[in-house]
Amino acid sequence: MKNNISQVSPTECYGCRACEQICPHNCITMINDHMGFTIPQINDECILCGRCVKVCPRLQYQEPTVNPKVYALKHKNASIRYKSSSGGAFTAISDAILKAQGFISGCVFNEHNQKVEFILSNSTEERDKMRGSKYVQADTTNIYTQIKNKLEQNVLVLFIGTPCQCEGLKRFLIKDYSNLLIVDILCHSVPSPLILSEAIKKDNHIKNIIMRDKANGWRGSSGMKIQTKSNQEILDSTYMNLFYKGLINRPSCSKCQFTKTNRCSDITIGDYWKINKIAPTFEDKLGVSLLIANSIKGKDWFKKIVDDVDYIETKMEDCIQFCMQHPTTPSNTRTKFWADFHKYGYNMVADKYGHYSSWEKFKSGPLASFIRRIGLSKIIRKIRTKL
Ligand SMILES: Cc1cc2nc3c(=O)[nH]c(=O)nc-3n(C[C@H](O)[C@H](O)[C@H](O)COP(=O)(O)OP(=O)(O)OC[C@H]3O[C@@H](n4cnc5c(N)ncnc54)[C@H](O)[C@@H]3O)c2cc1C
Repeated sequence: MKNNISQVSPTECYGCRACEQICPHNCITMINDHMGFTIPQINDECILCGRCVKVCPRLQYQEPTVNPKVYALKHKNASIRYKSSSGGAFTAISDAILKAQGFISGCVFNEHNQKVEFILSNSTEERDKMRGSKYVQADTTNIYTQIKNKLEQNVLVLFIGTPCQCEGLKRFLIKDYSNLLIVDILCHSVPSPLILSEAIKKDNHIKNIIMRDKANGWRGSSGMKIQTKSNQEILDSTYMNLFYKGLINRPSCSKCQFTKTNRCSDITIGDYWKINKIAPTFEDKLGVSLLIANSIKGKDWFKKIVDDVDYIETKMEDCIQFCMQHPTTPSNTRTKFWADFHKYGYNMVADKYGHYSSWEKFKSGPLASFIRRIGLSKIIRKIRTKL
């Protein structure tokens, strides 16, 4: 086996780009696979130094031991919470960093190249553009190198990304930096940048995309709102349907090693979906964040945001959701979807796969979940196979 990143199969690679950025001879180029996900390609000049192997989150994963504190949290400013995907934890944390003269690395929709990518900035305006979940694999080109340069200049940096991107950064840096705060988001999986670009291609003048608009409340947010440069708003539910159906997710997400309660970052943030079970009066239409302070550093930074948020401490078992226990399951029709996409194009697959049939709607509805709970589903399945 070669002592380079070729050990990782394309379906297992997270696409974090740590290998590309650590390579001392620039032997690794990230290329797009047929789904638009970046995978490393190594040229003949590789000297097998093995640095790419040492920074790879897939090859080096070790479950950390942590002693976390778990909170349900809401930003006190209702307008910030409306613009945030969950309860505004990211804004509270990043405000504390900006106040301490730090830089933030998160992802934005770049209206010039129409892509979602990571930036590093100390401006409030750029931070505001980072706000909101963009359901796509964000481009990390060169970002770890930029962060390292800032850290070496003793500048405080907050990095926020998916767990595999956080682990990629940690491994790339090799040593711990006291001036770095790493926040991971709970992650169901990341969808294809190629499909996103097709979904927004109809209009090449996109200013922004909003994927968790709260007009119908936090639990009612689903589709994608496309804002054009001429200030039009186009509503699109197809793209998010393809994502929720497991058709366009990165293959490595189905083998994700990070779907655990023991997290690799200082702080983990997500949606506190189960808040209605444990503290129903804490929930409102604007959303509730889950914040898990994993490390001592994470716990110290949590103390710095308490004036900006309302919060309650809860138990780990109260907040656990699917993506903290299992990787996402790909759809059975995934291979057919991609074959159709390459043969007939986006409009055809959007039409064929981008909607929920009455049966699919029923299966994910409350009546079906009740039927599953009381065990009737097995009997129904037997009857359906006999018919
Ligand atoms: C692809 C994806 C899947 C997710 N899956 C789940 C899930 O299953 N369960 C759950 O509870 N939460 C999930 N989240 C997290 C959740 O949607 C919120 O992003 C999180 O709770 C932060 O919300 P907030 O209100 O604190 O901050 P917001 O102000 O909404 O900030 C969002 C933060 O996420 C970062 N971000 C946005 N898009 C991406 C991206 N594509 N890649 C990396 N970083 C990004 C931004 O830089 C920003 O820092 C997911 C997010 C993404 C992007």
